[in-house]
Amino acid sequence: MSNSALWAEIERAFARRGDQSYGEGVSQRAHALQCAALAEQRGAPPAEIVAALLHDIGHLIHDLPETIADDGIDTEHESLGAAWLSQWFGPDVSEPVLLHVAAKRYLCATEAGYFDELSAASVLSLRLQGGPMNEVAAVEFAARAGAAAAIRLRQLDDEGKDPAIATPPLEHFRPLVEALARR
Ligand code: FE
Repeated sequence: MSNSALWAEIERAFARRGDQSYGEGVSQRAHALQCAALAEQRGAPPAEIVAALLHDIGHLIHDLPETIADDGIDTEHESLGAAWLSQWFGPDVSEPVLLHVAAKRYLCATEAGYFDELSAASVLSLRLQGGPMNEVAAVEFAARAGAAAAIRLRQLDDEGKDPAIATPPLEHFRPLVEALARR
């Protein structure tokens, strides 16, 4: 498949589910675009901008109902998303995506005040995802190759939920996505 086919798949995923609520007063599309735009503004490397844009693609490509978290089910969207992304991108994109939920559990365990700042939806999903890490798990997490990038992604993830932020359209990120994808 060509890189334009990849872009078509991304557009289809956002067209299908991008208008769904992210659960914080913003849509899935707005959340993805805000995270990517914040990464870009901060001069993040291309892989981290693409990871920010596509970190929740796992929410857009499954066929489960939108309200699934309310039903107490963890869709493991990070594994689904990372597996999908690894067809196209290297571990510099897929690993932070795979670890962005673990990064939340890590930060809850290691950073004072982090938990208190989480949104209600994030607290609900944290419970489904296993809660804050214990000390052993936190040490193991910090040693993983993608951990630092996953923590940076997590911080973007926590910030990119502002109904008032305007972003460039999805198309803005197309050259970056296609340049980074394997041919
Ligand atoms: Fe997110």
